Amino acid sequence: MAEFVGGLSGTVHLTSASRNLVDEMAHWGAVRSSVAQFSPEDCWALRRGQEHMSGPGILSPRCAHITENGNRGYVCMPLAAQGETLGILHLCEADAAEKPDWLDERRQILRGVVDTLALALANLRLRETLRQQSIRDPNTGLFNRRYLEETSSRELRRMERSQLPLAMIMLDVDHFKQFNDTFGHEAGDLVLKQVAATMLDHAREADVVSRYGGEEFALVMPGASLQEGVDRAEALRAAVKQLHVTHRGRTLGTITVSLGVAAYPEHGTGWSELANAADHALYKAKEEGRDRVMAAPGGGTQAERPPIHVVPSIS
Ligand code: GH3
Ligand code: MG
Ligand code: MG
Repeated sequence: MAEFVGGLSGTVHLTSASRNLVDEMAHWGAVRSSVAQFSPEDCWALRRGQEHMSGPGILSPRCAHITENGNRGYVCMPLAAQGETLGILHLCEADAAEKPDWLDERRQILRGVVDTLALALANLRLRETLRQQSIRDPNTGLFNRRYLEETSSRELRRMERSQLPLAMIMLDVDHFKQFNDTFGHEAGDLVLKQVAATMLDHAREADVVSRYGGEEFALVMPGASLQEGVDRAEALRAAVKQLHVTHRGRTLGTITVSLGVAAYPEHGTGWSELANAADHALYKAKEEGRDRVMAAPGGGTQAERPPIHVVPSIS
């Protein structure tokens, strides 16, 4: 970067997605003339949407994000593309007092640098937005099924190499249709959001939580054994049952879920074998009365305790 900007020190600062912070993404050169993180109001270039220069002999205010070094002379240039300001290119000329033309000499080339940089950053940001949209479910914010399948296949190979187990839980909301029918589709969506949030609460860093389909969710736990999977499923079952969801002032009643658990290596080495085994166990949990956890057969594990309530009352 230093060569593009004619030996000046500087930084690229980007505005966060929430627009309340500006963070340093890159720094080069011998001088640091801006703090690493600041608020957008601290920079005149961001406030006005135009180049802002300050230094010895220049009658313009100094940005609040400038450090002592910046007193010698600096410029902030907005990085704008496609109608959006993404951040700034900040440059410092430590000898500005002796070189009053330091910016004029380079302005043309710097504008080219700024335009190219802004366009590249806008493209990266757009690509990331599209990527997120393609891997997440918009209602719950969880990963979608496609992402789950891709990631789990990769995780399975990783567990194989490191000789670790992997457990997966399939979860389906009991009598979900009744929530829709009694309280409306919007209330149904809220139930799904709350179940999703509970699953996220119970997930660990390496876990993949996903919306598998309509009111069916999957939790993949790399490194967890079948028994750990069953225990985690049981904790989830109990936590969902504790939820108190209200929609437009009406309480939606108890939400219960049925869960099927399967694990690598007991139930298969491939993703689809595991998913099938977990799905069968889930089906069995439904058949046996819902609101319960079932492990796929053959793992030598027992889901503990029969449930107290079988059918949730939502009246
Ligand atoms: P079971 O205990 O056997 O699982 O019964 P269920 O009523 O939960 O299962 P069923 O498969 O009969 O009904 C699922 C319903 O979920 C049907 C569908 O209209 C509804 N559904 C699927 N996706 C969504 C969604 O995104 N939002 C809402 N509100 N409803 C959805
Ligand atoms: Mg259901
Ligand atoms: Mg279902």
